[in-house]
Amino acid sequence: MTLGILGGGQLGWMLGIAARRLGIECVFLDPAESCTADLVGERIRAAYDDPDALAELARRCDVITYEFENVPATAAASLAATIPVRPGWNSLETSQDRLVEKRFLAEHGVPVPPFHAVDDVASLAAAITEIGTPAILKTRHGGYDGKGQVVLRDADAASDAIDAIGGRPAILEAMIDFDLEASVLVVRGVDGTTKAWPPIRNQHAAGILRRSECPAPGVSPRAGSAMVEHAVRIAEALDHVGVLTVEFFVIGDEVLANEIAPRVHNSGHLTIEFSETDQFENHVRAVTGHPLGPTDARHGHGIMLNAIGDSPSPSALADAGVAVVDPAGVATEGSHRNGDAVFHGYRKAARVARKVGHLTITADSIDPHRSDTLAAIVPGAVAD
Ligand code: ATP
Ligand code: MG
Repeated sequence: MTLGILGGGQLGWMLGIAARRLGIECVFLDPAESCTADLVGERIRAAYDDPDALAELARRCDVITYEFENVPATAAASLAATIPVRPGWNSLETSQDRLVEKRFLAEHGVPVPPFHAVDDVASLAAAITEIGTPAILKTRHGGYDGKGQVVLRDADAASDAIDAIGGRPAILEAMIDFDLEASVLVVRGVDGTTKAWPPIRNQHAAGILRRSECPAPGVSPRAGSAMVEHAVRIAEALDHVGVLTVEFFVIGDEVLANEIAPRVHNSGHLTIEFSETDQFENHVRAVTGHPLGPTDARHGHGIMLNAIGDSPSPSALADAGVAVVDPAGVATEGSHRNGDAVFHGYRKAARVARKVGHLTITADSIDPHRSDTLAAIVPGAVAD
C-alpha cells in the first residue's frame, strides 16, 4: 500500500512516520527545495497543480491525502478522477473559504461568532453597523498563523483595514472576549466510525499557537461534550474521512466554533505521546481503510510547547533532560534522563514566526515548575 501526500512539511513527516509503522510507504508532492518529509519518503518535486506530477503521484499510489487545506481545486479534481482523495472535496471546499465555512457551521447548528461578508468599503461599513467594533477582518482564503487578519478597533480604521488585507474578499467577525481557546480532533473512518480525542486547550500569541494542554484546564464537562458533539456532527455532515480538527472559543459553558481544518493539526501533536493512538496514525488508518485505533489517554496530563522562530539548543535540551526524536520519530536512546519530555525538531532553518519544532511533556500530573523550566528553553513558547 502506498499513500500519496500533498505537502511535505512537518505534518507530512509525522504522517510518514505513522504510515511506516503500519507498513505503508508514502510518496510526497511538494515544490520546495528541501522538506522535512524527505526524512521518511520519496518526493516528487513539482507544483501542486502540475498535471504530469499529479499523474505520476496517482500512478504510484493507492490513495491520496494532504497536510494542508489549500489544495488547488484543479489538483483535487484531476486526482479524484483516478484515485481516492481522502478527505474528499466537501471537506476541502468548506475549509478553504472562511465565508463558506462559517455558513456551513451555522447551517449545521454549530454556534459561530457573528460574521458578515466583506468585499469592499461599502460592505465593510454594513458589516460594522451589524457587528460593531472591535472586530477582526479576515481574508476568506489562504490565511494561517494569523496571517491575512487585521483587528478593527473602530469604524474610522475601515479603509486602512481593507488596505491591510490587500482588498481581498474577506469576512468581518466579532471580536470574542473568550475565557480560553480549545480544539477537538475527531477521526472518521471510511465506514463512518468516529472517534474523538479529549478537548485540548490552546494558547496563542500574535496569532500563533504556543502551547496546548490536555486535559484542557478550565473547560467544563458541558463545554467539553458540546465541542465533541459539534466536531463529530461536522465530520458526518462533510462525509469526512480522516482527522478533522475544530477550533473553538470557550466562554463558560458556551462554545463558538472558530474554524475547521480537514487534517491533522498542530494542537494535536501531543497525541503522539499522550494518546493510545496519535492523530497521525489514525489519519493514516482512516484514509487507507484500516480500523481506527483507540484515542484514550495514556497519561494523566500532556503539554505541548511550540518552538517558533528558532529551535532550543541541543545542550539546553540535554541539560533539561529532554529526549529528542530521530528522523524515524523515535526518541533516541540515552538522550534523556527523564522520560517525560521529548523534542521533535523539524530540521528547518531559523526564521521569524516559523514553527521549527515542538516539545511534549507527559506525566500523571505535570509539575508546573517543570513545564515553566522547559517553556523557558523553547523559543516562542509561553508558560501557563
Ligand atoms: P491558524 O492557522 O494558526 O489556526 P488562522 O490564521 O487560520 O490560524 P484563526 O484561527 O482564525 O486564524 O485566528 C488565529 C487566532 O486569532 C485565534 O486562535 C484567536 O486567538 C485569535 N482570533 C481569531 N478570531 C478571533 C475572534 N473572532 N475573536 C477573538 N480572537 C480571535
Ligand atoms: Mg486557527
